[in-house]
Amino acid sequence: MTDRTTLAARAAELDAADALAPFRDEFVADPGVRAYFDGNSLGRPFAVTKERMAALLDAWGGRLIRGWDEQWMVAPEQVGDRIGALTLGAAPGQVVVGDSTTVLLYKLIRAAVAARPGRDEIAIDDDDFPTDRFLVESIARECGLTVRWIPVPRDGGPEPAQIQELVTERTALLLLSHVSYRSGHLADVETLTRLAHDAGALVLWDVCHSVGSVPTELDRWGVDLAVGCTYKYLNGGPGAPAFAYVRAGLQPELRQPITGWMGAADPFAMGEHYEPAPGIRRVLSGTPSILGMQPMLDMLDLIERAGMPAVRAKSVALTGMVVDALDGELAGLGLTLASPRDPSRRGGHVTLGHPDAQAVVARAWQRDVLPDYRAPGGIRIGLSPLSTSFAEVADGLGVIAECIRG
Ligand SMILES: *Cc1c(COP(=O)(O)O)cnc(C)c1O
Repeated sequence: MTDRTTLAARAAELDAADALAPFRDEFVADPGVRAYFDGNSLGRPFAVTKERMAALLDAWGGRLIRGWDEQWMVAPEQVGDRIGALTLGAAPGQVVVGDSTTVLLYKLIRAAVAARPGRDEIAIDDDDFPTDRFLVESIARECGLTVRWIPVPRDGGPEPAQIQELVTERTALLLLSHVSYRSGHLADVETLTRLAHDAGALVLWDVCHSVGSVPTELDRWGVDLAVGCTYKYLNGGPGAPAFAYVRAGLQPELRQPITGWMGAADPFAMGEHYEPAPGIRRVLSGTPSILGMQPMLDMLDLIERAGMPAVRAKSVALTGMVVDALDGELAGLGLTLASPRDPSRRGGHVTLGHPDAQAVVARAWQRDVLPDYRAPGGIRIGLSPLSTSFAEVADGLGVIAECIRG
């Protein structure tokens, strides 16, 4: 039997002790949402973002074309540096905001493969996010390479022994997700990167499900390349542009295939032939979306105030509450844990297995409790630390329990 009172009482204690709790009031509060468990797919907006968007309209109207020279040309690198400093452990000049995650992945996978001639394999785990797998398959076809699939359990992720075995002198690139979109498994980036480097391969980390939720140290961990999106834990809004990280030492040899004018050394020289920009700017292709970069700036400000270690600590407490409830109040409902139990191996979401998951999620949505359904049989509980309270988790889990009972 679900004991909602116990769960609610524990939640109230945790909220009272939570130093980050006041920040929750800065997000748009919509009475039509009872519990939001999808902040890992589309973060909530901030109330102040309306003012920021209005200011951009004013700058556009007042400065017109002058705005590019005055502020917008440098925005991809400026915002990139800020993401790098606050969330990625990246020194300046290595992160740029550009296209969608998918397009940036395409460009960096192609560039990495080209930078390791003579190697004929790309390694990727067989449960990585669809866009990652689809791109690797089509790039392998395009470039005459073989895909080396790394088999991972659906409730886990890639382990060091697998990298040791499957990444070899034939591997040009290893592509993995820092946090698995399905299970929430948190990979040991430093160890896996070192093992791939031992075999001479480059490594590209997809940080979509970790950026803004799990502290990341790309420079210290020796990562070559990373791509992440900004509409999940960075609350950039629907279709906000993604970012790419390229280790400084690798930038000179990296040539990406979409050779547009904005990634050229001197865009306004209107030159006869493409010459890549000297630094991280060479990852760009066309005109960057200044409009799309605005909302995420409010989340970056908030992360600066809160600090990533505190964000991570609350994230661990939030997901821990779901795991505890599964063993306690939610026991006997046929739910299983489809995520790592060890919090040090878990990102910001927890997936619960249930044979009736799809119908349960549909019923929960009707009651304004919004988890995500992940086939087959997964109820994904995403918990964005700065916009989610423990009471919201307790309430939402209670509703899900009622939806399971029918
Ligand atoms: C969300 C997500 C994407 C999304 O790519 P888009 O181009 O923004 O649609 C890619 N990879 C992973 C791992 C994701 O979680």
